Amino acid sequence: MTVIGLPMRWTRRTFVATAVEATAALTVAPRILASPAESSREPLRQFDYADVQLTGGPFAQQYDALHAHYLALSNDRLLKVYRQRAGLPAPGRDMGGWYDIDGFVPGHSLGQYISGLARFGASTGDAACHQKVHDLVEDFAATLGPENQSILRPQTNLWICYTLDKHFAGLIDAATLSSMPAARDILSRVLAGAQPLLPARGHDRIGKKDPPYDETYVMPENLFTAAALTGNPAFSDLAHRYLLDRELFDPLARGADPFPGQHAYSHAIALSSAARAWLVLGDPKYKQAIHQAFDFLTTQQQFASGGWGPNETFVTPHRGELYNSLSTTVDHFETPCGAYAATKLARYLIRFTPAPADTRHADNLERVLFNTVLAVKPPDSDGDYPYYSTYSPATTKVFYPKKWPCCSGTLAQTVADYPLNLYFQSDDGLYVNLYTPSRLRFNYAGTPTELKQETRYPAEDNITLTLRPASPAAFAVYLRIPGWLTQSATVRLNGNALSIAASPGTYATLRRTWRAGDRIDLTLPQPFRTEAIDELHPETVALMRGSVQYVALNPTPELNQQRLALPAGLKPAGPQIFTENYSGNEIIFIPLHRVRNETYTSYFSKA
Ligand SMILES: [Zn+2]
Repeated sequence: MTVIGLPMRWTRRTFVATAVEATAALTVAPRILASPAESSREPLRQFDYADVQLTGGPFAQQYDALHAHYLALSNDRLLKVYRQRAGLPAPGRDMGGWYDIDGFVPGHSLGQYISGLARFGASTGDAACHQKVHDLVEDFAATLGPENQSILRPQTNLWICYTLDKHFAGLIDAATLSSMPAARDILSRVLAGAQPLLPARGHDRIGKKDPPYDETYVMPENLFTAAALTGNPAFSDLAHRYLLDRELFDPLARGADPFPGQHAYSHAIALSSAARAWLVLGDPKYKQAIHQAFDFLTTQQQFASGGWGPNETFVTPHRGELYNSLSTTVDHFETPCGAYAATKLARYLIRFTPAPADTRHADNLERVLFNTVLAVKPPDSDGDYPYYSTYSPATTKVFYPKKWPCCSGTLAQTVADYPLNLYFQSDDGLYVNLYTPSRLRFNYAGTPTELKQETRYPAEDNITLTLRPASPAAFAVYLRIPGWLTQSATVRLNGNALSIAASPGTYATLRRTWRAGDRIDLTLPQPFRTEAIDELHPETVALMRGSVQYVALNPTPELNQQRLALPAGLKPAGPQIFTENYSGNEIIFIPLHRVRNETYTSYFSKA
């Protein structure tokens, strides 16, 4: 496949140079799109993917494995159903599951795989990712046909908006991250082709037997971005049309709770559209709505893992429904999709919260990352993916029974977004938000600076940050001191203890002129605690250590009848391994994210 205007294979150096030129010429990077008004709505800003690399630890391990996994997917198989619809030669095996021409939603996740590959490529510099993005986008464009409809033809697909939104995501990321300006024109062609099929107004998701069964309200986030990228006003018209104001954002902004009984993931991901609406439109109701949503989700809907929505449905609070779900279903959290929604919401809220920031959005982000998406069963190589997490007693991690589900697309995007969660920047400095081995390159007041983070956290409590500005540079470094801390964090600078405020739930501030080799040592003692499943069942608890949920490994059948002295009876037995004796049996507790094929139990009766 020839990539027009670009070399067939790039070295990292040529790719970066090309990308920089393309970005400068097109001003397409998401951060560069922000108008001055938008910037004022965003006191903290994300770094670009290319600024952050994961260099070790559990997140990097999963990230590297999935980078390789998505890179290895067969282009012919991914494109087969598109080519079939277009009447083109369609080599390759059928995908199976949701994806085929007679599947649940044919070809639905192609755009998400393209998006994930562009994001992996942007952070790692892997030219093979960008090449695959180019190839997939070009071959997708070749299936558009004279009507520009590609796979989105009324006779094959009732989920027009659901699939279209993913096409937009892939094309936006191809244009902004994989240096493919042609993707902007394809965006407009795809929209033009879909226009005759789109609902005249937005609607809330309604029953499958009551069409149109679709999710218009997931689209505005990408529509606003596509509008800025293409200058095509048709995108902003649609973004306005499909904002779910009446059913979701207006009630939230008033402090009312619209969640009970709603489909969980699609309404949670719609909050990203409200966040984007705040940035673009500046109407404060959207910011109020997502703040209120975060409060409802984290205080009334959430399991200890950070997941929500048993049977994909938000519960009615104060009725013990989370507790009841432990015995009535095994489908407790639609994990890759839900984690995508929860991590994006948390990042938007971190960006929108002015200093002095509290850490609750970041604390919850860390909880969701460790216990949901990091904890999923790795996909196999033929379309079997994780979907539901189960919090019932004596369970195992399983694949979804149908191949290539929705979660195969969001898994790529969520994990490829890991680098975005680690660091944020403000006008006066740098926020260190997540503790995991990594490298950040940033520019503060014109001084190129590298920050290296080394740690075995959460297996150990110590984190070391080494700064290397090209020349001495004055800025603040803000360290997240998580809200779950019960003893003081300690902060050392170049070996000397600092007497700075490091209270739980705040960011500790180190403001000075930094010199190459300056070293910060942070210690975060991670205590155990228990968290009740809901307020009607205070005796049914999960075991938490800092942000990490611990579960009982290979539980005996009697464990459920036992009352455990948690966390008082725990004894250390190895790195991130603790034991408790009861009735002559030893229970082993390890982090949920370290469980592989073993049986485990997540909730316990507390003595
Ligand atoms: Zn899903």
